[in-house]
Amino acid sequence: MLEIKDLHASINGKEILKGINLSVKPGEIHAIMGPNGSGKSTLSSVLVGNPMFEVTKGSVEFSGKDLLELSPEDRSHEGIFLSFQYPVEIPGVSMVNFMRAAVNEQRKYKELPPLSASEFLKVMREKRAIVELDSKLANRSVNEGFSGGEKKRNEIFQMAMLEPKLSILDETDSGLDIDALRIVAEGVNKLKSPENSCIVITHYQRLLDYIKPDVVHVLYNGRIVKTAGPELALELEEKGYDWIKKELGE
Ligand code: ADP
Ligand code: MG
Ligand code: MG
Repeated sequence: MLEIKDLHASINGKEILKGINLSVKPGEIHAIMGPNGSGKSTLSSVLVGNPMFEVTKGSVEFSGKDLLELSPEDRSHEGIFLSFQYPVEIPGVSMVNFMRAAVNEQRKYKELPPLSASEFLKVMREKRAIVELDSKLANRSVNEGFSGGEKKRNEIFQMAMLEPKLSILDETDSGLDIDALRIVAEGVNKLKSPENSCIVITHYQRLLDYIKPDVVHVLYNGRIVKTAGPELALELEEKGYDWIKKELGE
C-alpha cells in the first residue's frame, strides 16, 4: 500500500525529515507518536504533496505508483486522505455542495458517472449517521462557526464520503472532549476494512484506547527511532519520551 524509503524533506533549506522508512500494508492501522516538533505533521504534508516542503531524497510508493510524481489532486484521487490538525473554514461554500463536488470529481477520475442529487443525498445520510453529524451542518458553510468537535466529526464524515485507501489523521484527537473522541474513533473503526489503511498521528495514547493500532512508531528529530506493537503507546504514556532520547544517547 505505502512504502516510504529514506525520505528526506526540507522547508526553506532546513531539513525536517532525515530519512524516514515506513511500510504500511492494506488493512493496517499505524500510530505515529513523538514529541512536538519531531516532523509528524511535516510527514503528512509531504505525503499529500504540500508544495511548501521540498523532498530532497528518498522514495514513496503508493499502490504501486510513484507518489512523489503525482500532483496533490491526483494523490487525493488515488485515495490518500489527510485530516488536518486545524481544519480550514470555507465561507460561502455549503457542506453539501463541497462534498458533492469532491465526490463527483473523484468519480470522474475513476471514469464513473456523477451521482444524481438523490443518490448523493442518500449516501450523505448514511455517512452522516456514522459520525452522528447533525443534518443542519450539511447546509452550513464548510467548518464556518463549527465547534472543535463538529469540525473533527466533519472531517471523519468527509473521510467516510471519499472512502480513501489511506487515511492520515494528524492529531485529530487534539481538543476533543471524551464524547467527540469516541465518535471520531468509532467512525474510524467503522470505516476500517481489509483494503484500507490508516495512519494515526497522535500525541496521546488515549485515542489509541479506541482505535487499536497494529503498529506504533516513534518519530523523533525527523526519523522513526522506534517501532513496536500497541504496548509501546502505553509505555510512552507512562514514561514519556526521555527514555527514548537516552537510548539514542542524548
Ligand atoms: P510535529 O507535527 O511533530 O509537532 P512538525 O512537522 O509540525 O512537527 O514540525 C517539525 C519541525 O519543522 C519543527 O522544527 C518546525 O518548527 C518546523 N516547521 C514546520 N513547518 C514549518 C514552516 N512552515 N516553516 C518553518 N519551519 C517549519
Ligand atoms: Mg505539533
Ligand atoms: Mg503536528
